[in-house]
Amino acid sequence: MAILKILKVGHPLLAQKASPVEDINQEIVDLARDMVETMYQAPGVGLAAPQVNKGIRLIAVDLSVGENKDELFVLINPEIVEESGKITAEEGCLSVPGIYEKLERPERVVVKGYDLKGREITIEARDLLARAFAHEIDHLEGRLFIDRLSPLKKSLIKNRLKKEQEKVTTR
Ligand code: ZN
Repeated sequence: MAILKILKVGHPLLAQKASPVEDINQEIVDLARDMVETMYQAPGVGLAAPQVNKGIRLIAVDLSVGENKDELFVLINPEIVEESGKITAEEGCLSVPGIYEKLERPERVVVKGYDLKGREITIEARDLLARAFAHEIDHLEGRLFIDRLSPLKKSLIKNRLKKEQEKVTTR
């Protein structure tokens, strides 16, 4: 098991479309396990493979952050096949530290994908769980949640993050 490094906004891989997983081999199983461990340690409620420098379609979501094993979903090649309603709530991302913004997402989504044994699974999710899946699947398209904000808000956030990074490097 290993804690992986989480890439931050500005890294090119976070802006790239991830490739489908063609074969669920040991490497994928190990990566999924490390991603779950990294997500719990962060702590966060979701993590997508591109955030740990792997450009493949693999995500982990757990709203309980490890408290309840029934709430952990590890999905390969996930896609939203249905969505309905709209709900606005605050959202953040492990790759955009310290930034939380209100964002509209579907209230309900149906997600299809495969588990680590290659079985097809379908999950109907509402509210926060729907938001977590939509957020993680966005990562696989190279989209961060701040990319969904208005251009003005996005540039304000990018400037703020840039200043913070400069502070860190001049310390
Ligand atoms: Zn994220």
